[in-house]
Amino acid sequence: MSHYYFLPHQRIDDMLNQLQGDGYKCVAPRHHESEINYDTITKSADLPWGFHDEQAPGHYKVNKSDHKHAFGFVLPTTSVKPMLFKAKENIWKVARNDEGKLAFEPIVEFEKIAVFGVRPCDLRGIEIQDRVFMENSYNDVRYVKRRENQFLIAMNCTKSHSNCFCVALGDAPQADKGFDLAMTEIEGDGFVVEIGSDKGRALLDALDLEAASGGQAQKALAKIAYAVDGQKKTLPPIKEVETKLMANLEHPQWDDVASRCLSCGSCTQVCPTCFCHTERDEPNVLGTETHHTREWDSCFSIDHSYTHGDTYREDPKYRYRQWLTHKFSTWRDQFRTKGCVGCGRCVTWCPVKIDVVDEINAICK
Ligand code: SF4
Ligand code: SF4
Repeated sequence: MSHYYFLPHQRIDDMLNQLQGDGYKCVAPRHHESEINYDTITKSADLPWGFHDEQAPGHYKVNKSDHKHAFGFVLPTTSVKPMLFKAKENIWKVARNDEGKLAFEPIVEFEKIAVFGVRPCDLRGIEIQDRVFMENSYNDVRYVKRRENQFLIAMNCTKSHSNCFCVALGDAPQADKGFDLAMTEIEGDGFVVEIGSDKGRALLDALDLEAASGGQAQKALAKIAYAVDGQKKTLPPIKEVETKLMANLEHPQWDDVASRCLSCGSCTQVCPTCFCHTERDEPNVLGTETHHTREWDSCFSIDHSYTHGDTYREDPKYRYRQWLTHKFSTWRDQFRTKGCVGCGRCVTWCPVKIDVVDEINAICK
């Protein structure tokens, strides 16, 4: 078990100081009033010690208890997505130069960010978005720069909430790749740490951590197993889901869900893998300069399907069907992977409690 190390709670600050000394802004889940979400931290005291979250269909609540964990909650309200693919940003601007000619200037803003405490489902969300933004003929330069300058410290799950379903998708609440370091918080005041990259190894070398004992490593595995046991949602095997959804495009369940869905797009805004966006030009009032912006959009928006004078998904039924069949079927044709990581955020943040797992099971039956 010598490839596991142990980081005591009282040495989190040493890790953060080392990362900050290397030029990283440290970002981690923080508690603010009624939620736990990613924000800048500078010290271990900024972590959400003692807090835990309740998540159920259409329900989210944060409570304080006397437990001594920094990561005793399950999932921050949003994923890592907004750090890489921003909700709105200027991507280029054009202005008249001194010679009166139009000069185009790309805008690529990025900073070195170390994310402390990425849940395994959100890590898989990054992997899926990498395929969207970095593995096409035209890579997104902003996304690529941010990924190159990101340090990822995964935090394996030690419990699940009732909307989690990564296990039903064939995954596990344990980071298996795509991280610099992966940690599991255990009783006994600290984290069992695993190295995932040369950058991660260099950080641990600088901290000169002790190897975790066999007992500590076993405790970490038992904690992850507890998170697996906590997931109660089930689905047919994902390949079967992919086939059955496309074979049932006229199933009456699409009408049923459309009668409940508000087309608010909340599910797409919180989803770590959704990437729909729209672009527009924003000229200044003098007409001397224009910024070209990119902003998140949603397949639930009626304008999103407007093409050549027609809106071809006017009926909410077709918008919901597009969203669900893309995530759980046609995504694989496009990106050679499934489009969902089972984080359950779309269930938590749906104002009318639509549960995607229930919808899939109803159609696949
Ligand atoms: S579809 Fe829902 S459960 Fe799946 S990744 Fe998106 S928000 Fe999470
Ligand atoms: S499924 Fe729920 S969150 Fe998504 S668009 Fe419909 S009402 Fe909104």
